[in-house]
Amino acid sequence: MRQSPLVVVAHRLPIDDSVAPDGACEWRRSPGGLVSALHPLLRDTPATWVGWAGGTGPAPHLPDVDGVRMHSVPLTGDELRDHYEGFANATLWPLYHDAVEHPEYHRRWWEAYQRVNQRFAEAAAEVAEPGGLVWVQDYHLQLVPGLLRELRPDLRIGFFLHVPFPPPELFMQLPRRAELLRGMLGADLVGFQRAQAAHNFAQLAAKVLQLPATDRRIAVGDRVVRIGAFPVSIDTAEMSALAARPEVVDRADRLRQDLGGPEHVILSVDRMDYTKGIEQRLKAYRELLASGDVKVRDTVLIQVAVPSRERVARYQILRDRVEHQVGRINGEFGRVGEPAIHYLTQPFDRAELAALYRIADVMAVTPLRDGMNLVAKEYVAARVDDTGALLLSEFAGAAAELPQAYLVNPHDLEGLKQELLRALRATPEDVAARMRAMRDHLRHNDIHAWAGSYLSALEESGSLLGRRVTAG
Ligand code: UDP
Repeated sequence: MRQSPLVVVAHRLPIDDSVAPDGACEWRRSPGGLVSALHPLLRDTPATWVGWAGGTGPAPHLPDVDGVRMHSVPLTGDELRDHYEGFANATLWPLYHDAVEHPEYHRRWWEAYQRVNQRFAEAAAEVAEPGGLVWVQDYHLQLVPGLLRELRPDLRIGFFLHVPFPPPELFMQLPRRAELLRGMLGADLVGFQRAQAAHNFAQLAAKVLQLPATDRRIAVGDRVVRIGAFPVSIDTAEMSALAARPEVVDRADRLRQDLGGPEHVILSVDRMDYTKGIEQRLKAYRELLASGDVKVRDTVLIQVAVPSRERVARYQILRDRVEHQVGRINGEFGRVGEPAIHYLTQPFDRAELAALYRIADVMAVTPLRDGMNLVAKEYVAARVDDTGALLLSEFAGAAAELPQAYLVNPHDLEGLKQELLRALRATPEDVAARMRAMRDHLRHNDIHAWAGSYLSALEESGSLLGRRVTAG
């Protein structure tokens, strides 16, 4: 087995299996943010990515992608159901998002979670060079740092959680809370999106495991685990450049014409998920239509809601409810050729999204809870002429970095309606001042800055440890 000095471990490999024109299966780099962030780094160092390739058969042997080795981990159908759909997406996901839906606890799911985490840890142990660096990603793999440290104490291990980390009152519900915390504490550096999450984690380490903990460091036996906030970002320059391309500008002009040249376009782009606040937003919009504050002739709402996790029952229920709601609103307020809501469920590529961002006078991003929300950042990056109002939930990680957005509490229906109207009616000067400040922030705090700051903190944590050990 070839070994690498740098290993990324994530639930999915960064590839899409798409069918080539000749019918053969071809592997390509998928456009995820994490891949773009790590790409320069992975390209310059011999690196391996450990993850699931999709499918439930034996692990396929994959060619390198852009010089990065792909090491696939097999999953059975039962494991997919119990680890991914079960413990990851029906226990941890709702629990970590303020329990806006009830988290389910099943012992069988936990067993699968342990088994799958063990398999990922073994795969990482196999492909990491002696003294190498392993970076584990997200809530599907929280036990991997601890399991990997047992197998390979020589490695420097990082863990980053892309989703929120809940306050102790919620996390304490979790039947296997101590094991999960211990798993994460196997890392040298545990990174979160927000400082509040690191604080929650430190409190839990002290409360559940009785470890000496501050919001920056936790002592685990003879090791020091560093913790902190590293808000993930986007490739700002790439999105700005895409939005300024002549074909995207033309496409945006055509889209606006197709919509009948309305005065205001409001856009929302979400995965169909109960954390995204889609139902609350539609309800607020319906009330604004009913009161006459918003008129279908002048204002158009485009709601992109890409279905996800459709095998999890609650996601099917949500989709039905949203579609029922959209149908009702369009029936009540739409006119021939003028729907109140343009509702789209097909996924768009980046160029089409950039064109949509360009025509959105108001971008409504109102999740009930969200680790970061990259769509909000992409919108800002796409507004190359400093126009456009971002309506942003206080409960999205992005709000901590973009205080110049029109911030809302999406649970407060009246507040949501008022702030949406405020964004729609804002003066061009106010909108531009806010947008300039947000764009300035994202120019400096992009995805490359994120990966760089995390990895240098991880390297530093290793050398700190080295110094402490030699000094002792
Ligand atoms: N996205 C996309 N096509 C779509 C809808 C969304 O490529 O039709 C992308 C979007 O550009 C963003 C990501 O999916 O980069 C969604 O990330 P976000 O953090 O907003 O939400 P998540 O889905 O991770 O909860």
